[in-house]
Amino acid sequence: MRVWTVVVAAGTGERFGGPKQFAMLGGRPLVAWALDAARSVSAGVVLVVPAEHQGAAGGLGADAVVAGGPTRSDSVRAGLAAVPDDAEIVVVHDGARPLATSSLFRAVVGAVEDGAEAAVPALAVADTLKIVEDGTVTATLERTGVVAVQTPQAFRADLLRRAHRSRADATDDAALAEAVGATVRVVPGEPANVKVTTPADLELVQGMVSR
Ligand code: C5P
Repeated sequence: MRVWTVVVAAGTGERFGGPKQFAMLGGRPLVAWALDAARSVSAGVVLVVPAEHQGAAGGLGADAVVAGGPTRSDSVRAGLAAVPDDAEIVVVHDGARPLATSSLFRAVVGAVEDGAEAAVPALAVADTLKIVEDGTVTATLERTGVVAVQTPQAFRADLLRRAHRSRADATDDAALAEAVGATVRVVPGEPANVKVTTPADLELVQGMVSR
């Protein structure tokens, strides 16, 4: 099936202290890693960056570079608008996850090719989960069945376009697909597929890459 991927890298990097998309990892900008993995399964890749970085991002090899919006969901919608109508599967991936492997992309795409409406990678949560208010624990959550969900996330293209028609915001695209009634299949996530949010996360992935 014809696969296109949208790589979203238009965050402001508030918790990082600057635009982390272009921080260097193993001699290449962080976002180049996500683009390479995306390309391995895709007929085309759309890269979404802050408007002021559109020019600089032109050299990274994406098929289209578009400006993002104020929220992650707005940025996905900007990328989706640049995906050709003949795409049958659209994958959405965080540019801040440089270590997602090609095989993880193949796993989520394969699940949709096999008939799923959507597929996401997930890992079981190992820690105990608690609600905290003003530095004090107010409740302990039941952990059974709770997973942490990553990207890349793959969708039938018509479903993803329908899910975004409401222009709602969510922290991932699967939540918008669930909201329009889709069934989301889960494939095993990858422990190394961390999202680089803080400078400490970048040091962690730099260590992983150099090993
Ligand atoms: O903010 P969060 O950690 O959820 O960001 C996940 C991904 O979404 C990052 O790759 C970030 O660059 C991207 N993003 C975006 N546009 C926004 C906010 C986040 O493309 N307005």
